[in-house]
Amino acid sequence: MKKAAVIGFPISHSWSPIIHNYWLKEYGISGEYEKIEVEPGSLEDLIFDKKNDNEFTGLNVTIPHKEHAAKICDQLSENARKLGAVNLITFKNNIAYGNNTDGDGFIESMKETFPEIVIPKMKVAIFGAGGAAKSIALSLSEYKPEKMFIFNRNIVRAIELVKKLKIAAEPLHIDKLKDAERSFDLLINATPIGMAGVSDQSYFDFKNIKGLNIFADIVYNPKKTKNMILAEEQNIKTLGGLGMLLYQAAPAFEAFYGKKVKVSSGLRNYIAKHISRIEK
Ligand code: NAP
Repeated sequence: MKKAAVIGFPISHSWSPIIHNYWLKEYGISGEYEKIEVEPGSLEDLIFDKKNDNEFTGLNVTIPHKEHAAKICDQLSENARKLGAVNLITFKNNIAYGNNTDGDGFIESMKETFPEIVIPKMKVAIFGAGGAAKSIALSLSEYKPEKMFIFNRNIVRAIELVKKLKIAAEPLHIDKLKDAERSFDLLINATPIGMAGVSDQSYFDFKNIKGLNIFADIVYNPKKTKNMILAEEQNIKTLGGLGMLLYQAAPAFEAFYGKKVKVSSGLRNYIAKHISRIEK
C-alpha cells in the first residue's frame, strides 16, 4: 500500500486530499492520501520519519513549510534549488528529493485553455512577488517571453525576485501598472486579491491596460473572481486558478503512485462542486 500526505500548518483548508483521493478511486489504485498538520518545530522530525517509512512514497508541502522543507531535503530539483522552496517531496531509498511543480502547473493550465499561445511572442506582467509569483516567473522565463514585468506592492521584493532567479524581467511598483507606455498580452494575478474571505481587495482597471489579451487569476476560490468578471466585460479572455491547482498535483500523483493521470472534466466538476459549497 503506497501512502502519501500533504503537510502544512494549519492544514484543514487543503484541497490536495480531495484531488488525490479522486484519482486513487478513478484509477482503482489501493493507495492512501491524508493530511497531516505539522507545527513548524516538528518539520524535520516528520520528514525524517516519513522518508524512513517504507510505505510512504512522498509528501506535498504547503504553507508555511515550503522554504524550510527545501533546506531539509537531501536533494533538490533545479527549479526547487533556484526557488528555495518545495511543494513536493518524493522518497526513494530513504532519500528525500524536493521539487516544485507550481509554476509548471500554471503553464500547463494555460496551454490547455489557450493552445494557440506562443509565449516567446508575449509581453507578460505578473502581479505579485510572493511564492506563487516566483515559481510562475521561473517557469515562464524558460519559454523566454518577449518581455516580463514583475509588479509588487513592496518593490524591494520584486527586485529581489528578479535578482535571485537571475531572470530577464523588470521589477516595478504596482502603481506603474497603469502606465500608458506599457502594454501586455498576458496579466497574471498572483496575489490573494479576489479570494473569498480576503478583506483587502483592489481591482484592476482593465479599461486602461493597453493591448491585454488574457487575464489569468491564480485564485481558485471563487472559481470566477471579480477581476475575471471585470476583464471579461472588456472582452479580455480569462483563466481561473483551478487548472493550476490540478496541474501542479498531477506530477505529484505520478511520483507517489506511479500512474500518469489526466486532469479530466470529471475531476474539474467534482472540485468545482466542493469549491461552490465552500463559497456559500
Ligand atoms: P505570498 O507568498 O504570501 O505572497 C503574496 C503576494 O501578494 C505578495 O506579492 C504580496 O505583496 C501580494 N499582496 C497581498 N495582498 C495584496 C494587496 N492587497 N494588494 C497588492 N498586493 C498584495 O502568497 P503566495 O503563496 O504567493 O499565494 C498568493 C495567492 O495565490 C494566494 O491566494 C494563494 O491561494 C494562491 N495560489 C494559488 C495556487 C493555485 O494552484 N491556483 C498556487 C499557489 C498559490 P507584498 O510583497 O507587497 O506584501
